[in-house]
Amino acid sequence: MMRKRLIVVSLLVAVALGAANQKKLPKPGWPNFFSKEQDVAMGREYAQQIEQQFQVVQNKELTDYVNRIGQRLVKEGGLEEYPFFFKVVNEPSINAFALPGGPMFVHTGLIKAADNEAQIAGVLAHELSHVVLRHGTQQASKSQLIQLPAMIGGAVMGGSLAGQLAQLGIGLGANSVLLKFSRSAESDADLMGAHTMAKAGYNPIEMARFFEKLEAEMGGKGQSAMAQFMSDHPNPGNRVKSIEEQLPYMARGPFEAQEGNLSAIKGMVDRLPAAPKKKSPQQASQQGQGSGASPLPNAPRPKNLPVSATFKTYDSQGFSITYPDNWTPTGSQQNVTLAPKEGMVQSQIGYGAIVSGAAPADGKVDLQRDTRTLIEGMIKQNSNMRQEGESQTANIGGSAALVTKCSSDSPFAGTRETDVVVTIDRGKTLIYLIFISPEADYARMEPVFQEMTRSLRFK
Ligand code: ZN
Repeated sequence: MMRKRLIVVSLLVAVALGAANQKKLPKPGWPNFFSKEQDVAMGREYAQQIEQQFQVVQNKELTDYVNRIGQRLVKEGGLEEYPFFFKVVNEPSINAFALPGGPMFVHTGLIKAADNEAQIAGVLAHELSHVVLRHGTQQASKSQLIQLPAMIGGAVMGGSLAGQLAQLGIGLGANSVLLKFSRSAESDADLMGAHTMAKAGYNPIEMARFFEKLEAEMGGKGQSAMAQFMSDHPNPGNRVKSIEEQLPYMARGPFEAQEGNLSAIKGMVDRLPAAPKKKSPQQASQQGQGSGASPLPNAPRPKNLPVSATFKTYDSQGFSITYPDNWTPTGSQQNVTLAPKEGMVQSQIGYGAIVSGAAPADGKVDLQRDTRTLIEGMIKQNSNMRQEGESQTANIGGSAALVTKCSSDSPFAGTRETDVVVTIDRGKTLIYLIFISPEADYARMEPVFQEMTRSLRFK
């Protein structure tokens, strides 16, 4: 009787303490220049690289088991918006990783290290959260604020996204921004993963226990076997306590989910042939970096490229802009390329416009400084680019703006192009438009660009 009462009291205390700080479920953050579709396309491409470099386990019982756990989390957690799949790879190190858009790989070493099924579910739920919260591409966006938008805008039109990203050094290499998370991303993935576990009938505490156990063992001889996992998923501090505090707000058990017999599964892992001696996928995929650049074909400049006088409206979350109706918008809400098909040379824009934005690290736009950074970034990427004269001040849609003219080599053979960069101070965000046309056609294109600039509206 006494005992029961104590439990009731401590539960009340937990609820009372928790009530003060129920944490909101995290959402995908900004900036992220990639669309969800690009996350998925990129993940597929990287997954192929991984599968070539790794021995994917073919044992059906073993892979079915991991898939049942994964799909249970996806379904019960309501995470069906991404095409998740789960593969087991024959690697003794304790690791698991999810690529943007959903492909997930679990090392056999991780299965062997787990004390119970909930701990495996914990790693999967944590990784699923990184995917749904789009941490990989968000970090890539943060680290490459300037170069990335133009590049992926172009990549949509043709060529492989991973190939384009490789040019910026974004691959699956060691410490890849796609797989190495910040502490705040970690606590978000813990929180969301814990909710997902609870919904699926797994005790969320087991996720934190497993991470803490791995970390505790890192000092010992297990170090090399799992250093990668703990360095990719740094401890945000007191994982068990953080989850315990949020337990009152999670689905209540019973936490009895069971998709199979873990000790039998571990036996199967033991009977697998020895893992092949291979580099870690992260080392191995570095070899692929830098090889994905699409060659520049020597396409001539199209003569009399038709430009429709009828304009359409492109509507995004943050802005709207009009464009000639024979152009096609591609890209994401935060980064759109507007160009005619004939204006593209593979992934490069010969005629067209890019609308994108960047958030300065200090949280506030300094128009002069950020414009300089943007232009310098572009010049760094295109050695033949140069600024033509001083930036001119302007007022666009009620916001202070600068207009900077540049010139560079056109993707059309033997042609120079004019690049007009319009930067707009929107407080926390620098919105920029880049208008691109071969020099010889600029006089004809300028009214189109001016009309587009005039039509720009912010929401
Ligand atoms: Zn993580």
